[in-house]
Amino acid sequence: MEKRIYLDNAATTYVSSEVLNEMLPCFNTIYGNSSSLHSFGRDAMAIVDRAKDRIAKAINAEKSNEIYFTSGGTEANNWAIKGIAYANKDKGNHIITSAIEHDSIIESCNALRREGFRVTFLPVDENGLVNIADLMHFIDKETILISIMAVNNEIGTIQNVKAIAKTAHENGIIFHTDAVQGIGALKFDVQDMEIDLMSMSAHKIYGPKGIGALYIRNGIKIEDLIDGGNQERGKRGGTTNVPAIAGFGKAVEIANRDLVVNQQKLRAIRNYFLEQVFEKIPNVKLNGHPLQKIQGTVNLSFDFIEGESLLMLLDMNGIAVSTGSACTSGSLEPSHVLKALGLSNELAQGSIRFSFGKAITKKEVDYVVEKLVESVEKLRNISPIKDGKRKN
Ligand SMILES: *Cc1c(COP(=O)(O)O)cnc(C)c1O
Repeated sequence: MEKRIYLDNAATTYVSSEVLNEMLPCFNTIYGNSSSLHSFGRDAMAIVDRAKDRIAKAINAEKSNEIYFTSGGTEANNWAIKGIAYANKDKGNHIITSAIEHDSIIESCNALRREGFRVTFLPVDENGLVNIADLMHFIDKETILISIMAVNNEIGTIQNVKAIAKTAHENGIIFHTDAVQGIGALKFDVQDMEIDLMSMSAHKIYGPKGIGALYIRNGIKIEDLIDGGNQERGKRGGTTNVPAIAGFGKAVEIANRDLVVNQQKLRAIRNYFLEQVFEKIPNVKLNGHPLQKIQGTVNLSFDFIEGESLLMLLDMNGIAVSTGSACTSGSLEPSHVLKALGLSNELAQGSIRFSFGKAITKKEVDYVVEKLVESVEKLRNISPIKDGKRKN
């Protein structure tokens, strides 16, 4: 296999060379423990502080001490949901989230439910949007937290975060957003958007794996996550991962710096890809919002086809895509996101996510379309469900 094309950037990205260069000295030159008082420790702490400053600046946090490093988006989401629930349970026991959140939100909420909290999973419309009237309907006196993701990882739909946060605050409720897929695609201003807590991750934006952060607005009451260390203001102990943090800070800075250029490029690529697909392949449906979405993520349902089979055929041609989210791959359960949009089991199972990276070329898209057309035709010709479904 000579040609390989990676269209799974919503699952993870490579580490860009700018980011890698930022990290390398932290392995063997600036290697001190950032909690140490001597100069080696101070040098490491300076790196951590600079990363915090970069991230705080990118999201317009008021203070850089509102950035708390975690092992990634999953940990940040767990902390936000459980930490807020435990610290505010004297005020109420009800949490509102959506039906299309990442599993780390959904399962954190399910864990709380087993402990006696009530959770409302808001429905979304056929484009994946949460409706403000629905949200208001479910708010009650016991509601302590609303958590709605900024950008969905499977379909790319962008929520009306600012309006949702405003609604939360009008009712005295804390607002959290999972912004893992939003960084680099959208401008975030946590003050203007009234975001109280925000989850981020490095490895979806050309940074290293295993590092992320939770933005926690000063004054928000949250339980500590890990005891036994003074790191992260005593809330999340453990020796600081300086190389990863250096890379994360740089990745966020670059993502923000290049945001407009990258999104313009991805918009052109995405439009080109979709034009070709719709021209050359019948019975395809675009999932998610047609306009209110990030540019790099395209989710398509192909009638009469199993997504897993299509994924494997494309993989044999060196093309990497995903069915739904990485977490649902390997299981035959249709994606909870696509089900929440109202898709039938068949269409949900016939879906593929193409997530383009910033280095993609038009020539690569041509190759992908060529192989996609071939593969879809091949699978439809042998499809057992085709004859039963197709009218002519
Ligand atoms: C990838 C992802 C996460 C999890 O982040 P990790 O750093 O991989 O733990 C959370 N939420 C969304 C929307 C994601 O896409």
